[in-house]
Amino acid sequence: MLFRTLLLLGWIAWPSCLAAGPNVVLIVADDLGYADVGFNGSTEIRTPAIDRIAQQGVRCTSGYAPHSVCSPSRAGIMTGRYQHRFGYERNPIFAPDDPNMGLPRDQKTLARVLREVGYRTAIIGKWHLGAHETLKPNQRGFDYFYGMLGGGHNYFPELLTIDHPKAHHEEYSTRMLRNDERVDETEYLTDAFSREAVAFIERNAERPFFLYLSYNAPHTPMQATKKYLDRYQEIENKKRRTYAAMVSAVDDGVGRVLETLKARALDESTLIFFLSDNGGPTYANTASNKPLRGQKGSMLEGGVRVPFAVRWDSVLPAGIDYDHAVSGLDIFATAIAAAGAEPPAGQSLDGVDLVPYLTGTVDEPPHEYLFWRQPQTVRQGKKRGGYAVRQGNWKLFQKPSGQQELYDLAADIGEKRDVYAEQATRAEQLDKARKQWDSELLPPRFLGLGERKEYEQLRKQRKN
Ligand code: CA
Repeated sequence: MLFRTLLLLGWIAWPSCLAAGPNVVLIVADDLGYADVGFNGSTEIRTPAIDRIAQQGVRCTSGYAPHSVCSPSRAGIMTGRYQHRFGYERNPIFAPDDPNMGLPRDQKTLARVLREVGYRTAIIGKWHLGAHETLKPNQRGFDYFYGMLGGGHNYFPELLTIDHPKAHHEEYSTRMLRNDERVDETEYLTDAFSREAVAFIERNAERPFFLYLSYNAPHTPMQATKKYLDRYQEIENKKRRTYAAMVSAVDDGVGRVLETLKARALDESTLIFFLSDNGGPTYANTASNKPLRGQKGSMLEGGVRVPFAVRWDSVLPAGIDYDHAVSGLDIFATAIAAAGAEPPAGQSLDGVDLVPYLTGTVDEPPHEYLFWRQPQTVRQGKKRGGYAVRQGNWKLFQKPSGQQELYDLAADIGEKRDVYAEQATRAEQLDKARKQWDSELLPPRFLGLGERKEYEQLRKQRKN
């Protein structure tokens, strides 16, 4: 204790070989709907392993993604900061030759901070924070990487044939990367990631580790094996059946990870997070966000409120619901506090250490406000972008047109009844906080998937 106190006071240096905190296992599902896990009430899709995290830990009923689409959300999770503070609010274009297309080098990742206090760090699965040489996981604090650099992938190993993707559509068919080396995979991708995660835990069971298990499932393309499809013969809609099978594969993988931790007697010394990186895109993969309104890409609840559970056996209570709003931004602060690491200098965190809140030591909500922003653009003649703010049970939502709506989430979780006119003073107060937050942010630093044509034109101009 004295040793730890001295360390925290900065009187003695932390030996790089010695990490005193728990293992951190961060499991992120991709495009999984709020309603598609057992712990949020699904009976159609069975997720007994994922549910165990909530049953043996805390289910966060108002757990939010930092953004409504993949990559900016992951940038927020990896840095503990609103990603707009460093201009990250679009899904990047897959561009291995562009050092600006991804997580800026001056932002320290959670992996880097934990590695500095002695953790072994790994990402298994989807990176999606930059494909340039300088932005790859091994350059960003991860000792070990098995997976792919882009935002989605084919799942069947026979489809993974490309070593040097040039065009965006080729990104989904690359062979797997093991650190910098292209390797042949033989398993269905979700099973392969589960296998790699288990192997990493086995290799590092004797020392603190950080495992970021970043499944790309159940993101499109819709591909599942017979083993998982057979579990859902009762679902007639083929796409929904495939989606259920893909989630089931993730659940099996989570089960394998939990079994490995248990077998290695690591339950008490492992902090586990499970969440989806954004709301379910019903239009693309049939995900269900019921009873929430909206889906991936929207800042209505269905786009940002996600399945969210935290387990840490020796520290957090088991089987409770936590209803105050929490965010994926909180994972960074929670993990580094548990590890006894300092926040990176000059990198103010927006997330908070959730432990005092989830244990009931602090009654107040962890956040006075949570904010979301999407870039304000005009595309195909249509205005896009907007804002959302949550304070307590109130949610202010600003449409692309600039029109605002206010919802009382306690009475109206489905955001059906706009009470702006009745609560104008409250709405104005939320908007004032929103404007203050907005004034601290940068404009987007790179063009995104929706601006691929503009991006190509700009690149041609630069070359000429
Ligand atoms: Ca996603």
